Amino acid sequence: MSSEITSLITFGEANFTGFSSMSGNLVAFTLLIALVVLAALEFSFPKRILPVKQLRQSYQTNAGLFIFNSLIISVTLTPLLMVADRYSDRGLLSYAEGPAWKALLSFLLLDLLLYCWHRISHSFDSLWMFHKVHHNDPYLNVSTTFRLHIVELLIITVLKSAYIVLLGVDKTMVLTNETLLTLFVMFHHSNISFRGEKRLGQVIIAPYLHCAHHSTERSEHDTNYGAVFSTWDRLLGTFNEREPAKIGIKNSSPQTVLGLVKFGFTPANPAPAPVYGPDLNLNAMIAEAAYYKAEKRAFKPGNELRDWLEAKRGIIRMVYGDRPGRRPQPFKSYILTVSSIPIIRNGKYHEIIERFYCSAYYPLYRRC
Ligand SMILES: [Zn+2]
Repeated sequence: MSSEITSLITFGEANFTGFSSMSGNLVAFTLLIALVVLAALEFSFPKRILPVKQLRQSYQTNAGLFIFNSLIISVTLTPLLMVADRYSDRGLLSYAEGPAWKALLSFLLLDLLLYCWHRISHSFDSLWMFHKVHHNDPYLNVSTTFRLHIVELLIITVLKSAYIVLLGVDKTMVLTNETLLTLFVMFHHSNISFRGEKRLGQVIIAPYLHCAHHSTERSEHDTNYGAVFSTWDRLLGTFNEREPAKIGIKNSSPQTVLGLVKFGFTPANPAPAPVYGPDLNLNAMIAEAAYYKAEKRAFKPGNELRDWLEAKRGIIRMVYGDRPGRRPQPFKSYILTVSSIPIIRNGKYHEIIERFYCSAYYPLYRRC
């Protein structure tokens, strides 16, 4: 979300044709002022009283990660501006009449794009792996905006390039949109509380809404994905006004720059250890469950994929709970899952797996 900040502050260095580096520097200066003002407001009107030592650590880490990311992301920024320079008159926005409509549409669609990206990054383990770095700050404050993993930043840069080409967003609009977005994102990360905040939250993502998004509870942090307008969350059923009990992610996680870079490459959901020998894994369990289903249907052809998918869904749900990934159930329930498959109990475990893999039900399996 806060890739805009990295992009904008490095923009001053890019000095791309058609834009003076002054524009970039002016934007960077504006954002710096905003950062100072919001930090001062956090100090004067804090929503949660944060311990000074930990808050200092949070600022240091987030600033360090920002510098680390800036060193890399500035390499990808120039192509982004070149894309804006080259395709600004060819995209869908060329059908919109008047610069005001173009500007409004480009901003709204960018906000929608970021909503979608944010939601997707919470839905897939392979993306949450990187996004969890942003969520692991237990002392949410304006500097948390900068806590992003480099891989996530690079993916967002690619997405934005595609958005620029598709819509034909010119450089002025890119600069304006990114500045506004950055200001909104910094604002909603701030640890502040003020009168009228709830009313404001009906239209835009106010700090209390984004605070709920940083809850340790998945049911709460899978909500309020918006960057600017809360409208997307309202329309798409992810709006949440609950006050979170705890901020961050469950279990301990690193709080240093290098630790966070490494943490981003750590699978969000390590596989549970096998309890019934080295051959036992999720695929084997799914295979057995699928075979069991197939047997019940008397191996009637045409149901192979359905059997497999149903089995997969059932096993994943039993092992990980209501939703796959990221939240392994306690070890006990894993054992229960295994013992709940009748086929395992009858001692024909390996034989049945082989039969399943090599049967007409799964002919492409490599072991056959
Ligand atoms: Zn998030």
